[in-house]
Amino acid sequence: ETVTVQELANRMAERGANVIKALMKMGVMATITQSIDADTAELVVEEFGHKAKRVADSDIEIGLVAPQDDADKLTSRAPVVTVMGHVDHGKTSLLDALRQTDVVSGEAGGITQHIGAYQVTRPSGQKITFIDTPGHAAFTAMRARGAKVTDIVILVVAADDGIMPQTVEAIRHAKAAEVPIVVAVNKIDKPDADPNRVRTELLNHDIQVEEMGGEVLSVEVSAKQKLNLDKLEEAILLQSELLDLKANPERSAEGTVIEAKMEKGRGSIATILVTRGTLRVGDVFVAGKEWGRVRAMVDERGQRIDEAGPAVPVEVLGFAGTPDAGDDFVVVEDEARAREVAEYRQRKEREALAVKSARGGSSMEQLFAAIQAGETKELPVVIKADVQGSAEALVGTLEKLGTDEVKVRVLHSAVGGINESDVTLAKASNALIIGFNVRANPQARDLARRDGVDIRYYSIIYDVADDMKQALTGMLSPTF
Ligand code: GDP
Repeated sequence: ETVTVQELANRMAERGANVIKALMKMGVMATITQSIDADTAELVVEEFGHKAKRVADSDIEIGLVAPQDDADKLTSRAPVVTVMGHVDHGKTSLLDALRQTDVVSGEAGGITQHIGAYQVTRPSGQKITFIDTPGHAAFTAMRARGAKVTDIVILVVAADDGIMPQTVEAIRHAKAAEVPIVVAVNKIDKPDADPNRVRTELLNHDIQVEEMGGEVLSVEVSAKQKLNLDKLEEAILLQSELLDLKANPERSAEGTVIEAKMEKGRGSIATILVTRGTLRVGDVFVAGKEWGRVRAMVDERGQRIDEAGPAVPVEVLGFAGTPDAGDDFVVVEDEARAREVAEYRQRKEREALAVKSARGGSSMEQLFAAIQAGETKELPVVIKADVQGSAEALVGTLEKLGTDEVKVRVLHSAVGGINESDVTLAKASNALIIGFNVRANPQARDLARRDGVDIRYYSIIYDVADDMKQALTGMLSPTF
């Protein structure tokens, strides 16, 4: 008995009576207020054509993602490409150079800006979408959250350097994700370039390019001199034809959060890559644990647009809170539904965090005393930052601090201002809150004062590391 018939109906946006009917068909008699077990709920959910996801033995989350589209509704869409490879092999240069192949930018005359992804239109009218964050960190982070956005990986290998450790890592990630690779042998303008060596070395990593009798497409390029960029794009389109990429543009939009941030005066903003359907201004949506209404959409040329179809990246304004990169994005029918799903997900996360931090203890002062006395081994922290990159950098830095005896434990890290739920979490786990380029809202500040939760503000990562080091040795005097 985990979910009432009413709640199940709400989560699926179906009428209660229809759910009761479906249950009856399955031989289960239940009233609207009665609870049913997770197994039964899962069957009902599937009966209605939704995707059920077990979030725990006893509970299920109703996937908002609707069933597959009928084949006759599908039309071709642009491929989505991620550039990976070893550091300094030219990933950033290549992304910059490819971006300039766009035939539309010139006409539109907008100022190009980084929104996390961009689309180029070729002279033929064909389009390619590039994820504008090179390297596999973003790729794996997205994948870890269950998002599959990339159709093709461009593996950049510098012809003067050959296969290096991160090249091998990139190959592993692409293979693990079952994403096809197109090799870009870069820097062929260099006198010591040896593309043949690259092709040979790739054989050791199970990549057989065409020149070696295999099927992997490879193109020799120079990002610096803009050589063969058209050939690379043709290879991408050829590969994409083999993948037969299609989506239904005529339905409510679904997508993935590519990047998210908070901006002064604009609020929470996220770049969404639409995976199917068409996103329009005014649409109400859920993105991860957040929801909102599309107030405006801006493309990578800074132009306002009214709609975005499959494989089109857009910056969306109108979020109630900042989502995370890799979050799913789904347009729903109304605000009530959006709020409900977002609140449900937030509640689930709080519950999970509460379990995670159930080991909490006494007040901050006692914690520091305990560290000093050598009784406590962990300094729990909650991190809130203005951008995803800072949050990640902080987590990385802090988790490396300390010794075998004492270390920092990051309970939660996210983008956005410090709110009441952060304070509640910190209170429950006796944690310190770190605000990096963000402030606490007045309610959170009051609550923190009342509950004796320590909030510290920073704008330099080094300062955070320094303070936490001191805290670990019990020297930091608490400021309440
Ligand atoms: P990333 O670390 O993979 O993003 O590499 P970058 O794009 O930052 O490039 C590293 C260095 O290689 C920079 O100094 C670039 O100017 C240089 N570089 C990139 N592509 C080429 C190329 O095609 N030819 C030459 N000669 N240099 C290049």
